[in-house]
Amino acid sequence: MPAFGSEISNLPFTDEVREKTEHLYDEVKSVIPRIEWEVHAPYIAAINDLKKEVGAVILAHNYMTPEIFACVGDFRGDSLMLAKEAAKTDAQIIVQAGVHFMAETSKILSPEKTVLIPDLRAGCSLAASLTGADVRLLKEKYPGIPVVTYVNTTADVKAETDICCTSSNAVQVVEHICGEWGVDKVILIPDQYLAKNVAAMTDIKVITWAGACEVHERFTKEDIQEIRAGNPGVIVLAHPECPPDVLAEADYAGSTSGMANYVKDEKPANVVLITECSMSDNVAIANPETNFIRPCNLCPHMKRITLPGILECLQTMQHEVTVEPEMAEKAKLAVQRMIDLPLKGGAQQNYMHDGNPKIFALEGRA
Ligand code: SF4
Repeated sequence: MPAFGSEISNLPFTDEVREKTEHLYDEVKSVIPRIEWEVHAPYIAAINDLKKEVGAVILAHNYMTPEIFACVGDFRGDSLMLAKEAAKTDAQIIVQAGVHFMAETSKILSPEKTVLIPDLRAGCSLAASLTGADVRLLKEKYPGIPVVTYVNTTADVKAETDICCTSSNAVQVVEHICGEWGVDKVILIPDQYLAKNVAAMTDIKVITWAGACEVHERFTKEDIQEIRAGNPGVIVLAHPECPPDVLAEADYAGSTSGMANYVKDEKPANVVLITECSMSDNVAIANPETNFIRPCNLCPHMKRITLPGILECLQTMQHEVTVEPEMAEKAKLAVQRMIDLPLKGGAQQNYMHDGNPKIFALEGRA
């Protein structure tokens, strides 16, 4: 088997590779030019052979590039859906094509399995903004107020959490936990924009944290206005990690799954997804009749995951992601409480509002 670096960087596009991968190229040819495909295909063939040989599955997040998402991913979707699939599969080795907190969530839900990430540097600005110690201080400051954390957090934060949420269920989780505790306030952390967008949809008073996703916070309402001016009739779908005034300019605002479902169900002629760049390619593959306008904000952390990195990961079984068992047990409770929640119809939250939501308090490190 070739070692990473020398031979792998020169893997040739042979007749055998063509035979093994041509059916995959048919799926992605609308978003990957042929000349580029011949660089990817040898890795795809090698990865798909090796994962079967070692009994691994690859979890591919919506923000992976299409040669990863569509061609080597066994399960594809948002982070929580991937972690749930990881828990269900019989495979004992899970390769997370995503960022580190996602691999931790997979490990938390599947402690007996080996969870690998191809690049340990695949972090997240949002997850890095908050620690377990920060959450303990918040709980001291606001006793008796439930702590809801976004799944985009580290295991030590989840371990200090009463219940987790995702962008598709945050409003319902907040209302549920406040009803259960008989309170009218919630600590919803660490994404200040998700918290503001939730605050617009509920009467619960929201205390949040000065964290943000570096990809989504860069979008402005002026960006949306320019896109509309240049593309009359375009349908604008935005992620709730964007600032509230961006959502106020959109036609629909929801999670990555919510946006993908919107395109599948509504079949807009022209659409723009206000989120990470690769998502448009991946949704476009499944919706060839829709034209995608592509403003490109890349997540530098997600982009650390590459085909050569995945191949090396399968060859070397590096890098294993572990979570200290006591912490994992506490974190699992917070994730499991959310999974077990009877959400109304399981519907995706649509965050459309007037762009001026108020929050009760914005906390951060002094
Ligand atoms: S897109 Fe944003 S939230 Fe997702 S991993 Fe990148 S920085 Fe983190």
